[in-house]
Amino acid sequence: APVIQLEGLTKAYNVGTPVETEVLHGLDLSLAQGEFAALIGPSGSGKSTLLNIIGLLERPTGGRLSIAGRDTASLSEAEITALRGRSIGFVFQFHHLLPAFSALENVTLPAIIARGVSDDEAEATALQLLDAVGLKAHAHKKPGELSGGQQQRVAIARALALKPRLILADEPTGNLDTHTADDIFALLRAFNRDTRCACLIVTHDPRLAARCDRVVQLVDGRIAEDRGA
Ligand code: ADP
Ligand code: ADP
Repeated sequence: APVIQLEGLTKAYNVGTPVETEVLHGLDLSLAQGEFAALIGPSGSGKSTLLNIIGLLERPTGGRLSIAGRDTASLSEAEITALRGRSIGFVFQFHHLLPAFSALENVTLPAIIARGVSDDEAEATALQLLDAVGLKAHAHKKPGELSGGQQQRVAIARALALKPRLILADEPTGNLDTHTADDIFALLRAFNRDTRCACLIVTHDPRLAARCDRVVQLVDGRIAEDRGA
């Protein structure tokens, strides 16, 4: 089964009020295991909304959404939370790293909490990942002691520590210089190659979109183009 499958997916905000607005209009989209896709489109076209829905952070208003072969419509909130924790790694621009915890703890805690991994095992995996992202020497620093690029790499290590089948990234290189952006992109690419996880990456950077296997373009809440599908 595809990792992501949307059929006629719609999303409206303020449903049942005078200002009800549909922002996603019947999207059909499917992403297979191992696919590495960019999601592009003008500001306000619905990219973040779509990413939040695929990430099971918001519910669609209509249509069907399956993640990792599970039709999500019939799932309870608890089942949704479990499916999200089991299947999806998030890389957002504003990291949401926990400021009071070290880089290492930021990477280990989700695995310990969401997956029930033992402290020792989580730490071994986290150290490997922090090494892979070039931050082994910074493992015990707190986010505030790291540069923006370093924080972003911690966020990626944290997402990968959960060994997700799907990575959702919202402007993962948005606030970074070109060199760091290329590094971060290369890391996601390598992880995609090694684990065959599916990746959906929102980006405004045409250079990065051009390096994805597939480019899905949203315009006004509709898929205007799906190149490489
Ligand atoms: P993008 O990420 O492409 O900039 P968004 O998904 O953020 O687009 O927004 C798509 C549309 O949905 C915009 O018109 C935006 O104003 C609207 N929108 C987003 N979130 C909400 C919300 N919580 N309530 C009402 N409207 C929203
Ligand atoms: P990156 O390659 O991750 O973008 P930079 O080039 O921004 O890192 O920073 C180079 C070095 O400067 C890093 O090794 C980092 O330790 C240090 N540094 C940068 N910004 C900060 C900051 N806000 N606080 C502490 N150290 C920083």
